[in-house]
Amino acid sequence: MNGKGDNWRGGWTPQYADNHNRIFGSKKKMTKIFIFDVDGTLTPSRQKMTKEFREFFSKWIKKNSFYLVTGSDLPKLQEQMDGMEFHSNGIFTCCGNQFWQSDPAVHPKHADLIYENKFKVPNNLLTFLGQKIRESETPVKANNHIEDRDSMVNFSTVGRNCTLKERAKYFEWDNKVSERKQIAEEIKAGWNELDAVIGGQISIDIYPKGMDKSQIFKHLEDIENVYCPDEYIFIGDRTQEGGNDYPLAKLMNKTDNCSTFQTDGWEHTMQILENLSD
Ligand SMILES: [Mg+2]
Repeated sequence: MNGKGDNWRGGWTPQYADNHNRIFGSKKKMTKIFIFDVDGTLTPSRQKMTKEFREFFSKWIKKNSFYLVTGSDLPKLQEQMDGMEFHSNGIFTCCGNQFWQSDPAVHPKHADLIYENKFKVPNNLLTFLGQKIRESETPVKANNHIEDRDSMVNFSTVGRNCTLKERAKYFEWDNKVSERKQIAEEIKAGWNELDAVIGGQISIDIYPKGMDKSQIFKHLEDIENVYCPDEYIFIGDRTQEGGNDYPLAKLMNKTDNCSTFQTDGWEHTMQILENLSD
């Protein structure tokens, strides 16, 4: 307050607002913060970013700010992003249960762990998952079915060591028989405190209820509110119910100044970003 009340400068009238927008609005660039899922959104499933997307993205990052949020752990994300992750404002791994930031001026190829939520997998859940592996009629079985990421568990009846071809074969089979959906339902029914969601092509992410990708939004607002961004935009390939992008998409769809997009893959993401560019 200036002690003279708003009358002193005429107050904030609709006319003043119109004028203000005409004078300043046209010149002011909307500040947008982008949030990307990685696997299936910026890269093909479990593969490195393509050359074509990398060329596009290298130009795009010069004008835009973004965060990454993935179900994977940091080493897997780094394999896929191949250095591009260091251009982000921050990296949320393990569905937001770990947060990493880097200071390129100090260490161009190193990210510091800012926080981590720990989760100990219950023994009876491990027994249940073991049983599901034995019972599964998946067309292929490779190794590495249960991956404990300390803050969540990734489970796959086909096994993470399967080849890309086997992965595609499982994905096609699972689309027909909904094995993952069924197992996720059983986990949610048997363990009240846990949530289980479908991630990527072959696996299920399991973590304590609420410790999903939606948890990143609060952290992100805490960091970014200093700069008052006009809009938050999230793009993911699993934003539908049951997918690991759904909790974050659902939260953002209910929040002002947020938009979410479902993508079919990196080519589609490129189109979305092109359409959104000023
Ligand atoms: Mg994905």
